[in-house]
Amino acid sequence: MKHIIVKFFIYFIHLLALSGIIFCNFDGWSDIGLFLISYIIIGFGVTVAYHRYFAHHSFRTNRLFQFIMAFWGCMSLQGGPLFWTAAHRHHHKHSDEVDDIHSARHRGFWHAHMGWLCDKEVYKHIDYRYVKDLMKLPEIVLLDNVHLLPPALYIAILMTIGFVSDGFNAVGWGHAAQLVTWGFLVPVVFTWHITWSINSVTHFWGPKRFNTKDDSRNVWWLGLLALGEGWHNNHHRYQISVRHGFYWYEIDFSYYVILLFKCLGLAHRLQYAPQKLLKQQKIAKLERLLEKLKEETTGKKSRMQTTSQ
Ligand SMILES: [Zn+2]
Ligand SMILES: [Zn+2]
Repeated sequence: MKHIIVKFFIYFIHLLALSGIIFCNFDGWSDIGLFLISYIIIGFGVTVAYHRYFAHHSFRTNRLFQFIMAFWGCMSLQGGPLFWTAAHRHHHKHSDEVDDIHSARHRGFWHAHMGWLCDKEVYKHIDYRYVKDLMKLPEIVLLDNVHLLPPALYIAILMTIGFVSDGFNAVGWGHAAQLVTWGFLVPVVFTWHITWSINSVTHFWGPKRFNTKDDSRNVWWLGLLALGEGWHNNHHRYQISVRHGFYWYEIDFSYYVILLFKCLGLAHRLQYAPQKLLKQQKIAKLERLLEKLKEETTGKKSRMQTTSQ
């Protein structure tokens, strides 16, 4: 039953966002600015809070900020912190194996992207054994049960701004709907597809730095759009690392936010990939290059010998 509700919900939110774009007023840059700010806020809720903190414990924080981060993650309409974390930990445990709930290798690109959320079988695999650590926190369990409350509050704030600026009349309703469209619906749908692209695109296309057993890849443009999550092969190789972009040129906005939290005293015990791992990878890369050069030189020599005969 859950898969039917989720399917309906996904279509419904897409339809609402599209209706808002078509029928509401559009004020140009101010709406685009609202979209960008909201996307950044909602997006970091997924990457910093849900993914790097709750799913992987890449850093530690105090209990209050932990709750704030759980609240923040709920804004993306991707389920509560327990569901999100359980699904993600399941993915890492069975990456691209038959049991992986969203493997492009076994069930194709679209299933990996969003089809898995509408698949009845998937919900049998996501169980709370994966989140025993979080189940001990009553405030997180409570929030998971009311995970639609944070986005509902955000919508209420946006609508209130609309009514306060234009009055509780037809114009006010129009402005409220416009704010909800560009401040919530469009950023949420955009965040969904970016998050889902990490499951689909970064397990499908792009270069592989580390020889992991799964199909994870590093996709630079998703590194930018997904606020640092596109360095997915790096992430699969060393999951607990707070930094997914392993080098300075691998832009990782989520990591920069966590560094800011560290400066503010909100994050500590940041986890990093060991330097040894990066050195080993460089050596392996040089060895592969050397091997290739040897093969090319041997090939050239044998061709020259054949020609001279
Ligand atoms: Zn993955
Ligand atoms: Zn992960």
